[in-house]
Amino acid sequence: MTDTLFSQDPDSTREASSADGVVDISDVMQKVAEHKGCGTEGGSGKASCGSSAGPADMPPEIWEKVKNHPCYSEEAHHHYARMHVAVAPACNIQCNYCNRKYDCANESRPGVVSERLTPEQASKKVLAVASTIPQMTVLGIAGPGDPLANPAKTFETFRLISEVAPDIKLCLSTNGLALPDWVDEIAKYKVDHVTITINMVDPEVGQHIYPWIFWENKRLQGYEAAKILTERQMLGLEMLTERGILAKINSVMIPGINDAHLVEVNKAVKSRGAFLHNIMPLISAPEHGTVFGLNGQRGPSAQELKALQDACEGDMNMMRHCRQCRADAVGLLGEDRSAEFTTEKIMAMDIEYDAEGRKAYQQAVEGERQAKVAAKASELDGLEKAGDISVLVAVATKGHGIINEHFGHAKEFQVYELNAKGAKFVGHRRVDLYCQGGYGEEDALDTVIAAINDCHAVFVAKIGGCPKADLQAAGVEPVDQYAHEYIEQSALVWFKDYLERIASGEIVHQQRGDAAIRQGALLSQAG
Ligand code: SF4
Repeated sequence: MTDTLFSQDPDSTREASSADGVVDISDVMQKVAEHKGCGTEGGSGKASCGSSAGPADMPPEIWEKVKNHPCYSEEAHHHYARMHVAVAPACNIQCNYCNRKYDCANESRPGVVSERLTPEQASKKVLAVASTIPQMTVLGIAGPGDPLANPAKTFETFRLISEVAPDIKLCLSTNGLALPDWVDEIAKYKVDHVTITINMVDPEVGQHIYPWIFWENKRLQGYEAAKILTERQMLGLEMLTERGILAKINSVMIPGINDAHLVEVNKAVKSRGAFLHNIMPLISAPEHGTVFGLNGQRGPSAQELKALQDACEGDMNMMRHCRQCRADAVGLLGEDRSAEFTTEKIMAMDIEYDAEGRKAYQQAVEGERQAKVAAKASELDGLEKAGDISVLVAVATKGHGIINEHFGHAKEFQVYELNAKGAKFVGHRRVDLYCQGGYGEEDALDTVIAAINDCHAVFVAKIGGCPKADLQAAGVEPVDQYAHEYIEQSALVWFKDYLERIASGEIVHQQRGDAAIRQGALLSQAG
């Protein structure tokens, strides 16, 4: 690392600010610091980004960028959808957690996708999805390789989409090696959200994560490769911040390799103006065929991940709702409708891009969203009785911030933390489907219980007698009386009742244990 590269010399950035719409880095960072990304005191202390943030909580230009972006606003992710188009097959680095012959489960640029698209096919797919899913607001290019190792295809795709669907926000996700070379092009195409995967800022650590990089026509290895990678990542981040482009940092938490070091990464990216930090668990099942999967490297437990996210949150907004999506994902986060939009199906579709209809639909979504925020606020009184008590609850939901999924149909549970400050989204747990065509699968139930074992209750729209009894035996209270009601409001009503039951001596509050993060492949499933 060089001092010049990492320096925050205000003179040098101010000089740059006079040209080509580049803004002063200190102005941008001041705004980010003032509103801490997009979080507010939305419940339990500093919120995950945007958990209840509104236009009053942040500069208007930043609110405009995040308000309907499901990845940059936790609150928006209940209502708005994104899609990725897989136009970028090549990659310029190798990560020990990625095997592009398989489905890389660790990042937003997974290795294998169902179909690779040309820019023209991608543009048609975007129109098809936008016409079918009016709350789809964001188009990202996230692989299956690195978008900036495939610049011609990436920028041609952005050009075509911005012509036909100018209301859709453009995003890309990169390992950062080529980023400094393309920041001006990124700004030119109005790509105002960029994700950089940064797993280290120390090449000593990096050499255990990256076996090689391809740099200036050479394959480099070890410390030298990691040093160049981190320098390029930091430079790229500084350049994005100077231009007012929101940068999200993805970091894969690899116990024993970079888990303790990620606090340093958090400080380094925060000081360079990153908007949001997304620390994700390593997924390393042996069948993925990755180096880490094959050498037995474990991923973190749910509580290890949460502890690290909590430790970093004092300094910066943390993203906790990332689903580590495939490079061809479509739909709300947590669902994947990509199978509905294969090239064959798209070619047969009669597509009408109704920009006005999309706008009207999104206005209705805003109304729904505001009603949810007001419902939550109405239950904040009386929580001081919680004292130091803090509990996690799991929720089965299909979206919209409502408890609207049956226990047996849930492919994931959202997890909320409840305490004296309110209700806060803190993560999600993927699970195997319990209901298999009309009967309950006992093995799946074991994995569900393992995934939510740190929760005191699970909120569902409906649940059968057998899983109910097993959950109760495991110490997780099944709660089905709030079906089709708002999640946070219902959770707070339940929490106040829980506190009453403790106060009356009916129950004794006990700490729960840890929970497992699902290690299986995160393959696409429609529906
Ligand atoms: S991988 Fe994470 S950041 Fe990327 S689209 Fe999915 S949820 Fe959003």
